[in-house]
Amino acid sequence: MQHTRLWLITAFLITLSLGFVLTRGDAQPNSVKQIAPGVWFREGDIEHEGHCNNAIIEMKDYLIIVDANFPSGARAVLADAKKVSSKPVKYVFDTHHHGDHAYGNAVWTKLGAVTIAYQGVADEMKRYEPKRWQETAKERKDVAEMNSDHPEPPQQTFTDSPHVMTDGTRRVEFRFFGWAHTRGDGFVYLPKERVLCTGDAVVNGPYNYTADGNIGNWPKVVEAAMKLDVEHVLPGHGPAGAKDVMVGQREFMIELHQAVAAAIKAGKKLDDVVKTEGSKSTTTIQLSAAVKNWVGEGLPGQVKDAYNEIAAKKPIGDLPH
Ligand SMILES: [Zn+2]
Repeated sequence: MQHTRLWLITAFLITLSLGFVLTRGDAQPNSVKQIAPGVWFREGDIEHEGHCNNAIIEMKDYLIIVDANFPSGARAVLADAKKVSSKPVKYVFDTHHHGDHAYGNAVWTKLGAVTIAYQGVADEMKRYEPKRWQETAKERKDVAEMNSDHPEPPQQTFTDSPHVMTDGTRRVEFRFFGWAHTRGDGFVYLPKERVLCTGDAVVNGPYNYTADGNIGNWPKVVEAAMKLDVEHVLPGHGPAGAKDVMVGQREFMIELHQAVAAAIKAGKKLDDVVKTEGSKSTTTIQLSAAVKNWVGEGLPGQVKDAYNEIAAKKPIGDLPH
């Protein structure tokens, strides 16, 4: 009896998780996949842990990790990095200042790694912190357990692009193309392996967060990155892909901006295009099937941000929030 019940529960859970996997396309949270010799992509569990994706890049004597992740994500990445290479982590690159990409900084520096980012990441932290860290610490145990009242900024910053790191075995380029997701959006490009880590300037799925962004400029940033010779796109969230992920991301931002601009031109008020009942928002704005991979529960919020940006003639990230 006990066994039958246990089996039924197990079967139910398997069915549930199978359904979950199938609806999420080829998402494989917590998996590590080799992209090129010495280059791995780790897909973070955004649904349950809020983690971002990471890349592990092997140099001659050390590893470079792309994104610090949340503290719990940092530990998960470190454990996985140890499985693929015995070399120590020397550099951790923050693609931007958001908690799921940078709040793990202190975990890495305690291990002796150096955190590095485009100067705009440090500037964004000055702008938004320590308020966000303190709010996040109320909700996340891993942040609270860091016993700090502020995030650790990147130890090294640069303003040149590309900022090149090489040891003769591999060339790693840190690049900046302008303000898309945040004012500090950094990319990591491996020219020989044709790999591009995009941070959240390019995501693969309904993960676009626009509140700190510049929606009007976003497609231009993706376009500039698309000029690179790229085969593998490693996004900030969602599965790894090819250049079509960038094409779709760019298209999503163009369509969002155009559809909202058209509604404003037609005299629509914000309340006409975004309706909120309780905690649930819906939008009348519809985007084409070509960008459906990027459309999800966040769309009403993205429409609101686009509306406010266009109405104020200022990037949404420049408006008080
Ligand atoms: Zn972000």
